[in-house]
Amino acid sequence: MNVRTRFAPSPTGDDIHIGNLSTVLKTWAFAKKNNGQFVLRIEDTDQERLVEGSEQKIEDALKRFSLNYDEGPDVGGEFGPYRQSERLDIYKKYAEELITKGVAYYCFCSKERIEELRKQEEQKEVKTKHLHFCNQNNIEERLSKKESYVIRLKVPEHQDITFDDIVRGKITINTDQIDDQILLKSDGFPTYHLAVVIDDYLMKINYITRADEWISSTPKHILLYQAFGWELPVFCHLPLLRNTDKSKLSKRKNAVWASWYLEQGYLKEAILNYLALMGWTHPEQKEIFSMEEFIEKFDLKDVNPLGPIFDIQKLEWMNGEYIRALSDQELTKRLEEYLIDHPSKDHIAKLVPLVKERIKKLSDFIPLTNFISQSPEYDLNDFNKVKVDDKKEILEKISLTLENIEKPWKKENFENTFQNLAKDLNMGNREMFQLIRLAVSGQLVTPPLFECIKIIGEDEVLNRVKEITKKYPNIPDSKG
Ligand code: GLU
Repeated sequence: MNVRTRFAPSPTGDDIHIGNLSTVLKTWAFAKKNNGQFVLRIEDTDQERLVEGSEQKIEDALKRFSLNYDEGPDVGGEFGPYRQSERLDIYKKYAEELITKGVAYYCFCSKERIEELRKQEEQKEVKTKHLHFCNQNNIEERLSKKESYVIRLKVPEHQDITFDDIVRGKITINTDQIDDQILLKSDGFPTYHLAVVIDDYLMKINYITRADEWISSTPKHILLYQAFGWELPVFCHLPLLRNTDKSKLSKRKNAVWASWYLEQGYLKEAILNYLALMGWTHPEQKEIFSMEEFIEKFDLKDVNPLGPIFDIQKLEWMNGEYIRALSDQELTKRLEEYLIDHPSKDHIAKLVPLVKERIKKLSDFIPLTNFISQSPEYDLNDFNKVKVDDKKEILEKISLTLENIEKPWKKENFENTFQNLAKDLNMGNREMFQLIRLAVSGQLVTPPLFECIKIIGEDEVLNRVKEITKKYPNIPDSKG
């Protein structure tokens, strides 16, 4: 069987929820593994919830993560259009077919009447969810008078609907748990339930992968497949991600949009690798692997239904591993793309070997290297941490010494000179270099000092050391 999978997002948010990206990754990988197709379909039938620009952002995010789709609104395909708002005629035709078949009905009831009926039902001892709303008299007449209506699914009573989920096994839900779902709304738009079934069928999707929050919708869909006499696809409900405190991954606790992670300087390979492990374990327990390897080893049936924990610290660790595995040249390229407007951009190639071991995210490069191209901001408290007296005098000596060192400065000579100065001033080497580092960078911790100094340039370094004693005549002393 030619495997066809799909991602069917509603364009109602920013781009792709990170939990959805985890599902998409598995959907995409499963199609690739089976030489099948992966389809993008935009489910934009809930016009009130649409967010402008969201569809574009979803497409961009898939491209940024290299999760290429074979068919979709912007790439076309044999089964288009792939945007539901462009398929309204199709849904109407099928909704009317369901009426002819007697499994759906016109409902003219107002919202108020339905609420009233629901309330009445709540009072009853034995409750059923499916109220067959609306008396069915004079339908033709009401239609010809153009009264506003919806089309509802006529859900049968007391019937178990059972399906095999690849991840969860057999699932049974009784129709008494299901209400008479609206299929076609009064504005002529279908609801999710009608559109998803028709499109999955017409687009020949045979593996439905989605988050497990949709499980309760599946029996409604099965009723529709049965009513049309269509073969059921394979259902696969993947677990939702959870926060480290086990609650559902939500906007309040974690950043949820996939592009946010790219903007924070996580590499797409690391994000995908980490998401691959959400609900799935590599057969050799490997934590780091390529997407090719993932496609080869992954199978939907091996997914664990328990909600995996999304731990951003683990992702950060993995990202650091990925950064270190890049060649200097490749890391330079990534940083250049990432730091388009950053002042240190011109120095990236020289800085990469100095920082590669110290950064976990591309964004970590910024605080570590800002001082290279910008005069540092000083925090006088940092001077307190250098345990030596008469700092101002020492800094003046440092600046005099710098003026006299033979140019171009060489590492060995530079270090010897300042070790000698430390000896002359009866202070430790450690404190001597701490002071130079602070004066040059404004920081107590930096990438290797001499290499940074060479990138900053000798004149600028000298300037900074001179300036600091003028700017802060009261550098605190703190021999500890
Ligand atoms: N449009 C639904 C969503 O927003 C699709 C659910 C499904 O995959 O069936 O997630």
